[in-house]
Amino acid sequence: MPFRETAWREIDLSAITSNYRAIRAAIGSDTKVFACLKQDAYGCGAEKVASVLSEAGADAFGVVSIADALAVRKAAAGKPILVYPGIGPNAVDLVRNLDLTISISGEEDLAGWLATGTPLKVFVKVDLGFWRAGVAPSDLPGLMDLCATEGNVAVDGLYAHLNEFGDAGSSAPAQLARLTPLLEELRAKGRLPGTIMVSSSESLLHHPEFDMDAVDPGALLFGLTRSRDGRRILPTRPALAAIKARIVALKTCHDSMGAPPGLPGYHAAMRMAVLGIGWGHGVPRDLDSSASVLVRGQRAPIVPPIHLEHLRIDVTNVPEAAFGDEAVLLGSSCADRITLPELASAWNTDETGVACGLRESLRRIDVTQQSRPNQQEGE
Ligand SMILES: *Cc1c(COP(=O)(O)O)cnc(C)c1O
Repeated sequence: MPFRETAWREIDLSAITSNYRAIRAAIGSDTKVFACLKQDAYGCGAEKVASVLSEAGADAFGVVSIADALAVRKAAAGKPILVYPGIGPNAVDLVRNLDLTISISGEEDLAGWLATGTPLKVFVKVDLGFWRAGVAPSDLPGLMDLCATEGNVAVDGLYAHLNEFGDAGSSAPAQLARLTPLLEELRAKGRLPGTIMVSSSESLLHHPEFDMDAVDPGALLFGLTRSRDGRRILPTRPALAAIKARIVALKTCHDSMGAPPGLPGYHAAMRMAVLGIGWGHGVPRDLDSSASVLVRGQRAPIVPPIHLEHLRIDVTNVPEAAFGDEAVLLGSSCADRITLPELASAWNTDETGVACGLRESLRRIDVTQQSRPNQQEGE
C-alpha cells in the first residue's frame, strides 16, 4: 500500500465469484442469472465486477444508469444488459450502440421510444405491489397487445421487482399471484415472452419456487444480505472486505491550543489521532462517540463531529499508535475485527447502505484472495 493513500476500501472480487457460484448451485442450470450491478455494482466497481461475473458464467446484467451500462458493456461484450426504468428515449443512440435492452413500464413510455424509429429490445416491467416503476397488472394485457402490433419492438422478457423488504416480505406470494393469471392469458395468446423474471436477493433466499426463467439478484452477489429462515442458506461472503484510513496527525491535546471545544468524549491530555477519511468519502456525518475504529488491534473511539476529509479518534489507550498507522473502520486488525453488520449498525444503516453509501473518492483496492482455496486445502 503506497503511503500516499490516506483512505481506501478493499474489494475482494473472489467473494463475488464465489457468491455467484453459490447462487448458481442453488438455482441449477435452467434459470438464467441477470447480475444486478446498479450503483457501480453496489460500490464494488461495475467494470471489474462485470468482468469476473461474465467469466464465471453470468448470463446477463441489470443496471440503471448509463455510466454503469457503459462499464458493464466494456467488460462483457455480447451479453444482454437490461436497463431498469430510468433512461429515456434521448438515450436511444447509446441503447443502439451498446445493444441495451430497455424496460417499458407503460404506453406513454413505449410511445416515447417508438418515436425514435429505432428497433428496440424490450423487457416489459409489471408492478405487482412495490408501488414503484412498472405497468399496473390491469394494464399489462393492453400494453402487450400494443407491443405486438409494433414491428420495431421485440418483447424479450417480462419482469417484476417484488416488494420484499421488512413486513412486505410476507406478501410476496400474494404479489406473485397477481402475475400468474396474466401469464396464462399471454400463453393462451401465444405471446408469452422468452424470459419471465421476478426474483432478486430476498425471494431467491425465501422463495425458491419463484426462480422461473431468470433471477436478478444484486445484494446477494456482494454478500450484503443473508438467509435468516433457512429456506436457502447460501455460503456468501462480503465483497467489501475493509475500509481503512491512515493516521495523518497525532498529538497529545494541551491547554496551549485554547479552551477545548465541546468534543463528545474529550478528556484532559487526550492523545488524539486524525484519520485521512471523512464524510466526503461516505462516512456518515452524524456518527457519535460510541463508534470506534481499530488501531494496532485495539479499539479507539471516534471523537465527533466528522469532517469532510478528517475524522478524530482517541488513541490515549493505544500508546503504540504512530503517525502513518493504518486504522481499520471495517475489517481485521491483529486479533480484532469490525464486521460489516457491526459497522452497519454503528452507521445506523444496513450492509447495502454501507457499501452503496461510500463515495467515488474512496479508492478501491483489489484484494482478490486467489490463493485462499489452496491455502485452505493446506497447500
Ligand atoms: C435493485 C434491483 C434488483 C436487485 O435487488 P437486490 O435486492 O439487491 O437483489 C433487481 N431488480 C430490480 C429492478 C432492481 O431495481
